[in-house]
Amino acid sequence: MSKSDGQRAADLRRELAQHSYRYYVLADPLVPDAEYDRLLRELQAIEAAHPELVTADSPTQRVGAAPAKELGDVEHRLPLLSLDNAFTDDEVAAFDRRIRERLARTDPIDYACEPKFDGLAVALTYEDGVLVRGATRGDGVRGEDVTQNLRTLRSVPLRLDGESVPRMLEVRGEVFMPVAGFRRMNAEAELRGEKVFVNPRNAAAGSLRQLDPRITASRPLEIYFYQIGVIEGVERPATQTGALELLRTVGLRTCPENRCVRGVEGLLQFYSSLGSRRSTLPYEIDGVVYKVDEVSLQERLGFVSRAPRFAIAHKFPADEELTTVRDVEWQVGRSGALTPVARLAPVFVGGVTVSNATLHNYDELQRKDVRVGDTVVVRRAGDVIPEVVRVLLDRRIPTAVAVSPPLRCPVCESPVIRVEGEAVTRCSGGFHCPAQRKESIRHFASRRGMDIEGLGPKVIEQLVDSGRVLSAADLYGLDMASLTSLDRMGEKSAANLLEALQKSKRTTLPRFLHAMGISGVGEASALSLATHFRSLSALMAAGTEEILAVPDIGPVIAQNIRSFFSDTQNEEIIDRLLASGIQFEEMAAPESGGVLAGKVFVITGTLDGMSREQAAQLIRANGGKVSTSVSEKTDFLIAGNEPGSKLMKAEKLSKTVLSLTLLLELIESLSSHRQHR
Ligand code: NAD
Repeated sequence: MSKSDGQRAADLRRELAQHSYRYYVLADPLVPDAEYDRLLRELQAIEAAHPELVTADSPTQRVGAAPAKELGDVEHRLPLLSLDNAFTDDEVAAFDRRIRERLARTDPIDYACEPKFDGLAVALTYEDGVLVRGATRGDGVRGEDVTQNLRTLRSVPLRLDGESVPRMLEVRGEVFMPVAGFRRMNAEAELRGEKVFVNPRNAAAGSLRQLDPRITASRPLEIYFYQIGVIEGVERPATQTGALELLRTVGLRTCPENRCVRGVEGLLQFYSSLGSRRSTLPYEIDGVVYKVDEVSLQERLGFVSRAPRFAIAHKFPADEELTTVRDVEWQVGRSGALTPVARLAPVFVGGVTVSNATLHNYDELQRKDVRVGDTVVVRRAGDVIPEVVRVLLDRRIPTAVAVSPPLRCPVCESPVIRVEGEAVTRCSGGFHCPAQRKESIRHFASRRGMDIEGLGPKVIEQLVDSGRVLSAADLYGLDMASLTSLDRMGEKSAANLLEALQKSKRTTLPRFLHAMGISGVGEASALSLATHFRSLSALMAAGTEEILAVPDIGPVIAQNIRSFFSDTQNEEIIDRLLASGIQFEEMAAPESGGVLAGKVFVITGTLDGMSREQAAQLIRANGGKVSTSVSEKTDFLIAGNEPGSKLMKAEKLSKTVLSLTLLLELIESLSSHRQHR
């Protein structure tokens, strides 16, 4: 053994202990799990090569961290262990092979497969069906007493039910925070200027390990039970599948995704099936767990130091990773907004290699203090655009360079401006900036704009760069010859594109307004403007005051709209578009006598049995107005499940909050009132 191995092992132990403390005790980790796992694997490898280096307190031998003193501790009747990890199919195959060898079996093994919930493990004790104690895993031997906190979870029964309630049951499960609840909780914390949690796991751990159960009660925590620890008075089921069944029959919630499968093929199938649905699950999972189903076989296989031999966690690719920032570049958007984009050393995260991540805007970049040369955590979860989550300040190199927005646009060299009170910096080049031109044409042609199929970014790039198209108005002057002269544009595609252009001419006023790409005017505001003014000419003639009367529109956007229509270049583009045959109907007058006339509604959350759009249509059909944000002008907030920050705002402004059912009842009763009058 070289001296450096001993030294490295000691360093790794120290570093891992620090990370464990931040993760388990403070619920505020410094590094992503992938980094922690790498360090742990490195230590495991050194210890495997030099067993004499293994110390009793090595993180390879222990689970979790000792309980925090304030909560009081509980000794577990049976230790709560960790799980070994597999990262590849080969490692899963090796796991299955080891098991069959140990059991001297050639036929395939049955495995119970379960999601690996990203929360924290707890053990609950029920005596004669009554919940008497609940504890965190702690260091596996002693955990924290969180009985009162667990009692506040609605999915934790205080009393078991049914015919086969054991005299004594110590049951394990995972407490977690569903993603929607996590987002809502963080949004609320942000509004109050409080600390936000890094991810749902840390939020769950931080919320359960509170000294005041009222705080736990206010957090959206849930539990799934997955294991029987100790059972007395009722025979222990012979399989894990049977154990889950028993838990269910006494009223302990188990996960509907659990399955029993046969052999390695079954395991891998479960993994890929759940993996493909991972981002649609309401809670976070970081892998799946395979457990030999038969308890007698589990007993024969036994345990190694900190984990059972009969189970393994098959991890999904990490969605947070570490990498370094090579550069920060500025991309120019449709309305000239400059977005800082971090160019990263390529890193495998969320299942793909990522080399760019958005930093949103300059304020965000400053808040996170991202510098060129920094080591950062990047996150890519589901199909979301990769983003830089935070900087590891203790890894900052002395040569790291702070970034500020350029003084001139990187594309057209026009001066860059920053509007007081706005987070974004903008290129002042407007129509003259090719980047803005391309982006605004892309937006014009997009599905929710004029919906011109076949007019993708590559085609737009060529059209603008070759000078054939300067604005959206030029699109309708394109012909076969100009299109077929483009790279990779055959006659067939050109003909299709011309047809799509032709088709797009029949549109609606809200779509047309949205397609114009006026800064701050999204689909919903375009619709509000169209319903209010009913015709393009009325809107174009309106002054700022009149525009401000539209429920959705605040002073900044009203000003944007005004300046957009007073710009002669925009006026000319609109004239040319209309001259080329674009048509839309005038909007119908809202039913002036509708029962909701004069009332302004905002809708938030998921409604039961109706989409938000359908609810909005219903309100409009009854003469009400629908706005996207809560303000003094709001009369009612319609709140569904997971309502978000709008609910808080409405409550703050003392606005009336209604459920969908109440809204329907209101409309119905008002309508019948009228008929009787
Ligand atoms: P683990 O998370 O790898 O696996 C064991 C745990 O899985 C159990 O205790 C239980 O809580 C959980 N689990 C979820 N679903 C389960 C199911 N269906 N059946 C059984 N168990 C299930 O082990 P660990 O020992 O808690 O911790 C290691 C994890 O913590 C790693 O992912 C590691 O990266 C992370 N960690 C990170 C840091 C950091 O600084 N980022 C520090 C320490 C630990």
